[in-house]
Amino acid sequence: DQALALVEQQVRPKSPVQLPVSKALGLLLAEDVASDVDSPPHDKSLVDGYAVAAGDLAGGEARLKILEEVVAGAVPSLRVEKGAATRIMTGAPLPEGAASVVMIEQTELAPGTDGSLGFVQIRAEKYSPGQNIMRRGASLRSGDVVLTAGHRLRPAEIGLLSEVGRSEVKVVPRPTVAVLPTGDELVEPAVRPAPGQIRNSNGPMLLALIDRAGGTPIELGIGRDNRDDLLQKISAGLAADVLVLSGGVSAGVLDLVPGILAELGVQKVFHKLRLKPGKPIWFGVLDSDGARKLVFGLPGNPVSSLVCFELFVRPAIARMAGRPFAGLSAVRGRLTSEFVQRGERTTYYPAALEETSEGLAVRPLSWQGSADLRGLAAADALVRFPPEDRTFAPGESVVAYRLG
Ligand code: AMP
Ligand code: MG
Repeated sequence: DQALALVEQQVRPKSPVQLPVSKALGLLLAEDVASDVDSPPHDKSLVDGYAVAAGDLAGGEARLKILEEVVAGAVPSLRVEKGAATRIMTGAPLPEGAASVVMIEQTELAPGTDGSLGFVQIRAEKYSPGQNIMRRGASLRSGDVVLTAGHRLRPAEIGLLSEVGRSEVKVVPRPTVAVLPTGDELVEPAVRPAPGQIRNSNGPMLLALIDRAGGTPIELGIGRDNRDDLLQKISAGLAADVLVLSGGVSAGVLDLVPGILAELGVQKVFHKLRLKPGKPIWFGVLDSDGARKLVFGLPGNPVSSLVCFELFVRPAIARMAGRPFAGLSAVRGRLTSEFVQRGERTTYYPAALEETSEGLAVRPLSWQGSADLRGLAAADALVRFPPEDRTFAPGESVVAYRLG
């Protein structure tokens, strides 16, 4: 919790920018948006049917002369008088004199023989004046503020922005997040590892985590465990708002990352936490060109990397994008089996969640530790055990964090 507070202290929301509406999904609006039109722009028909004058349908039945046909996109030219009707399509502007629209399903056409449009016979079981009409400005009026700053843009808002004439909008942008997996042993997923090698699973996983957390991921390739390569790739990564490294932050002879970050002027905020998995995590900041860069050195083991990302990087990305500093959503449930907790580290353990008639059941899974991604892939959540030497009994209430 202290580490989380230290990260939160360092995070600043990004300054708003003007973006095309097509790039704004999920972002926070940074301006009030007013409409430049009435919507609908005219009294319009809500159905395909016939626009009729007041009084013509008092008994629900009438035979009316068809004046003209108005499709969406056209404008009517004739006034609807008593005894007459205008054939009108959904969305088309209502002719003058029209009091309501009768839907086409309640009519029968008697085409004219002389090239005229003929007559329509109406049998409306239910009829009320004003039916099937939407009045000009019923949804919004020109000048109305339809969205206010701070609103999160979902697909509906993207549609609304378009309706009120916006193709660009001021928003808090996604932070850019560069990813640098490090290790001499790493090969790309398409390669079969030679003896001593393993595949780079963290790189693709972190890119996916960043995307889902609302950041723009930037791939830097694999950093090798030597000063030159790390200096060059870390420098490139510091151009982003956030740099996320994996590996090279614990106590091995090739764990060069903290030293090189220091050399590049990145200020350490913390290194190593009482956390399991995730103990070696490193966090620091760099102020450059008036912007504060965040640097997370995540542990190399994939599950440690993921847990540290969800605990610390996800809330930081959310805050930079203008949202609250918040991580995975927490739920309470009851343990289905005993769990033995030992030691002084807060523990996050993969678990399955199940809704039962007695509430949410939390079942710790069989798991081989921080290198066991397969075990994590079976999990719905990470269940949290506080640091204490204690056996948790079946039925005890625990907190779990949904993996999404
Ligand atoms: P390190 O902290 O660099 O010693 O890494 C700890 C463990 O995580 C080692 O077993 C590494 O081989 C493994 N590891 C490091 N980076 C990755 C990666 N990108 N993908 C999968 N495993 C990794
Ligand atoms: Mg390494």
